[in-house]
Amino acid sequence: MKQVVAGVDIGGTNTIFGLTDREGRVIAENRILTRDYPDINDFVTALSDAILKLVTKEVELLGIGIGAPNAHYYKGTIELAPNLPWKGIVPLAEMMKKKSRVPVVVTNDANAAAVGEMVFGGAKEMRNFIVLTLGTGLGSGIVINGEVLYGHTAFAGELGHTTVVPGGRECGCGKLGCLETYASASGLVKTVSQLMCDSRDNSVLRDIAPSALTSKIIAEAAAKNDPIAVKAMNYTAEMLGFGIINAIVFSSPEAVFLFGGLTKAGEILFRPVREYVEKNVMPVFRGTVKILPSGISESNAAVLGAAALAWNEMK
Ligand SMILES: [Zn+2]
Repeated sequence: MKQVVAGVDIGGTNTIFGLTDREGRVIAENRILTRDYPDINDFVTALSDAILKLVTKEVELLGIGIGAPNAHYYKGTIELAPNLPWKGIVPLAEMMKKKSRVPVVVTNDANAAAVGEMVFGGAKEMRNFIVLTLGTGLGSGIVINGEVLYGHTAFAGELGHTTVVPGGRECGCGKLGCLETYASASGLVKTVSQLMCDSRDNSVLRDIAPSALTSKIIAEAAAKNDPIAVKAMNYTAEMLGFGIINAIVFSSPEAVFLFGGLTKAGEILFRPVREYVEKNVMPVFRGTVKILPSGISESNAAVLGAAALAWNEMK
């Protein structure tokens, strides 16, 4: 009988899950709509039923790994997550364990991505690295000496909420000038809007309604040398580089993996980030850090990350 774990990625809209073998192959996958379950009890029942439905006679389910926003690894809870339907503190691991009768482990999505990179991706041989997920926000998973950094509260490694511009843009966390308000898909869109107000440069982006502007459109325009798009990309890369430099000085990683929607821009983003980091990092760290795209394919990444977490607990 083939042994598998279930990897679950809980997002504000969808909850995606899949059975994954020890080699990182997703052998069955499905999803439910998170928003269909405003009551956490109904959600837990639906999720565990849907997972168990994937478990055929040929496979044995050993455990479940869950990646979710604001997840507390030590307690197995989701706490005060603004984009999920459940308020307060949800004891998710315990509830899922009761229903599914297998071990359940919970962590935040960026930490799951880091474990995924370590178990199945580009960090297999690495003991010190950082994964930055560049989506609507900026998530980070930090691995030091082969272990994910959780810290005293379990919420360590929030590089997206380090300050890069004192008194700068308003962040969803309530602070001003956080890295994720600049170095993320939504940060890039904000930068373009600002540049279009502040300059008279021609740009194809001026013909697009502000609400329709996406990081993908901006990256495509930058690839065609649109002046505003290029400036915005470079500024985003600089802010990201600034954040990376601070992280390098803190934990001396062998590599920083960039992951998520914004990284589809490819070299238009990676090249200026690498240049900025090399030029501005403390000299002793020059040439020591690779800045790389994730080694995990985007389509399966969230499920694989959560599955890797479960496999990792069973070593
Ligand atoms: Zn913040």
